[in-house]
Order: sequence, then C-alpha cells, then structure tokens
Amino acid sequence: MKYISTRGTAPELTFEEAMLTGLARDGGLYVPATIPQMRAPEIAALSGLSYEETAFRVMRPFVGDAFGDDEFRAIIERAYAGFGHAARAPLVQLAPNHFLLELFHGPTLAFKDFAMQIIGQMFQAALKRRGRRVCIVGATSGDTGSAAIEAFRGLDAVDVFILFPHGRISEVQRRQMTTPADGNVHALALDGDFDDCQARVKDMFNDFAFRDAVGLAGVNSINWARVLAQVVYYFSSAVSLGAPHRAVSFAVPTGNFGDVFAGYVARRMGLPVERLVVATNQNDILHRCLNGQGYFKGDTVASISPSMDIQVSSNFERALFFAYGQDGAAVARSMEDLKQGGFDVSQGALQALQEQFASGRASEDETLATIAATLETSGQLVCPHTAVALKVAGEMREREVPMITLATAHPAKFPDAVRKASGVHPPLPPRMASLYEMPERLTRIANDLGAIEDHIRGHIGN
Ligand SMILES: *Cc1c(COP(=O)(O)O)cnc(C)c1O
Repeated sequence: MKYISTRGTAPELTFEEAMLTGLARDGGLYVPATIPQMRAPEIAALSGLSYEETAFRVMRPFVGDAFGDDEFRAIIERAYAGFGHAARAPLVQLAPNHFLLELFHGPTLAFKDFAMQIIGQMFQAALKRRGRRVCIVGATSGDTGSAAIEAFRGLDAVDVFILFPHGRISEVQRRQMTTPADGNVHALALDGDFDDCQARVKDMFNDFAFRDAVGLAGVNSINWARVLAQVVYYFSSAVSLGAPHRAVSFAVPTGNFGDVFAGYVARRMGLPVERLVVATNQNDILHRCLNGQGYFKGDTVASISPSMDIQVSSNFERALFFAYGQDGAAVARSMEDLKQGGFDVSQGALQALQEQFASGRASEDETLATIAATLETSGQLVCPHTAVALKVAGEMREREVPMITLATAHPAKFPDAVRKASGVHPPLPPRMASLYEMPERLTRIANDLGAIEDHIRGHIGN
C-alpha cells in the first residue's frame, strides 16, 4: 500500500513512513494511492464482532506490512483497553430511526481518543523497531492536547510537549493535561492565545537545527493514521443497524474535516452510506463552500462548540483532491490562492463534492435549543458539538434511512454551555471523579520561541 500527496510532488511513502512524517514535503496531505475495497460478504461478516476485531479487519489493508497480524491485533487491544465502555462506540436510540453514536467513552471523553490512542501504540511499536525516539510537540485549544498526552503517557520512545493558551481552556480540559504524572508528558501554559501556540509550534518545525536535534514529530489531525482509525466506527455502527443489507446516513459535527472524511473513506471502501452530512457551527466555511460559494476565509468567531471554531479546515484538502480526480496540481493552485484569502471550486469538482457531502449549519441559539429539546424528548444530555449535528440531522432525515449522529464529546467536558441550555449540570463519569483532586503539574512559559525550545531541550529523555 502506497501513500501519495494531495499536491502531487512529494515522494510516495509506506503507511509507517506517512504516519511518522505527517505533513508531506510538498505541503500536501498523504492519502492512499488506491482505496481498498470491502465486498458485501466481508462487511456482513463484521456483524457481532468486537470493536477491536472490526478495527483490525477494516484497517489491515491500509497498513500494509508495517505490522504483523499478531502485533497489529495487540496494538489495537492496548489502544482501546482504557475505554469506559465494553462496546467502545455504543449506539443509543434518540427517536424513530435516529441514533447517537457515542464516541466519548475514551480517557479524555472526546472522539479524538479513538485515533490518538492507537497512534500512540503504533508510534511506539514503529520507533522501537527503528531504535528511534521522537519529541512530539503540539498546540491545543483543548481536546487534542489532552488526547495526545493520554495516548503517549508512559511510552518510552516518545516525549510529548503540549502548548495551551494559559487561562483560556476549561478546567476539565486543563486538568486532563496537567494531572498525568508520567515523566515523558509535559503541559506548557503559554502566555498568549491559541494562535500564538500554533505559531510557536510552526516556528519549531521551521527551525531545522532544533527539529533535527530533538527529533520533532507531529500528530495533528492531518496525520493519515488518525483519519484511518476513525473509519472503523462508521463500519461498526452501520453494521449494527443492518449494513450492508441496509444503507445508513451519518451527521458529523465538523471542524477540520478529519472525522467526516473518514466517513467518505468508509463509503469508498464499499460501506453503503446514503448521506454524509457536514454540520458546522457559525464558523461555516465548509457549509458555504459545499453550497457553491467558494472557499473563502472569514474571521473565526468563538462559539460554545469551540472544537469546531476553525476557518481553514485542513483535511478538506483530501476531499478536494478526490473531487478534482486526484489532480495534485489543481489542489496545489487552490492552496496557493488560499494564502490570499480563498479560492473558487471548479464546476466539476463542486458537483463531485456535492455528490458525496450534504451540509448544514447551526447558530448558537439553535445549538442551545437542541440541547434542551434532546433532553426533553429522549432523556439524553449532549455536548454542544453533538447538538450542532443533531440540529442539522433533524433537517436532513429521511424516514426510510436510519440516521446516525456522531456524539463527539461527553457533555461533562462542556458543563457551562450544557447547564445554560438545559438547567442540568452534567456530571463526570464516576471513573473520572478524582480529576478534581489530583495534583496538577504544568509549566508557565513566555510566548517566546527561544524560551520554549530551551525548556524542551532541558526536559527530553527524562
Ligand atoms: C475535534 C472535534 C470536532 C471536529 O472534528 P474534525 O475531525 O476536526 O472535523 C468535533 N467535536 C469535538 C468534540 C472535537 O473535539
């Protein structure tokens, strides 16, 4: 299995190389050169299997010879052992033919654990074999950083440093990053905002001397291995509801387009998916683009669904690549125009995108109203991201086709918005109740590249 860049000029890589590299050298994103197919009998055979065995069968053809079968099975087992639900990604019914796919039973209560936990185990196995060690740095506005720290804590081939904006994330999010006691994970509270954190991470990657000296690596949402891990729950949930004999639709709360792109991959592999619905909050560049208004950046407006507050949706580049018939040059031109503010999508590519994706948006008021209405009609408390998708799913449902809305975070991760909407304070799951008692460990750091690099050099390999 070979991986190619969406901009067409970077070298082809294996799965393992693409995972360890992240971003392609031509600035593009890696995608499989061909998408493996699962025929109907193979999909039907997933029925009744554990989540782990489903993951093995769905991911195996993409991984090539990076891992032996036994090794890969063991990696998957370790990745999901810390989840708080035996089904890993359980389905809950909300209304006739409308289901919630609960993706928040991982250690940090958001769906990012599905990808991050397995990428942690795959990094460790690949690095051990190569006798290498890497230093992962990342910036977070909340969910990604804690998922990375949980995934890599205690692994001896990896150090992790996460920059977060001091005083600007929720207490639950901060505590999830500052309470793991393992010596190889480090939470850095930067005096600045999220954009400053991202800019300093970029600066570190551009400082080649530093980059080589510490063995810098990234695990942000463009990493192909993360997208792949998310393909699995599209299969497991659809099969639970009767696939391949019955098609299902999905509504996906979308920011960087990684999660919904995984749904696209599932469909391209052969899963019968009727509709794939992109749901955005008021930061609706994707909804506008899919409506034929081009892809033009606006100002990011802070919302109650902060993990979707983006204007440039990095994984959308992968969808564009396929919509343009795998024409890397066309994608490269669009991305060049994006630096000047945006680009128009050609008529043919737009049509191709619209054949694959439906879209809708939810305002802040609609999101709050949906949290309240969902509690009233089904007894389920949902997080604001999930509510955005539920609102859009409500507009797109067809009676004959089951709709599965992805619940991307536990409501207790966003207690203020949930309480405001519903009057109910969402409690943390009992297995996490000690989060508020555990000691915190963090380093305040200036918004200064030299200071950050010095800190990292002084703390790797401890
Ligand atoms: C990251 C995140 C999203 C958006 O997912 P993308 O893959 O970036 O589209 C939605 N909801 C929650 C809770 C998230 O953490």
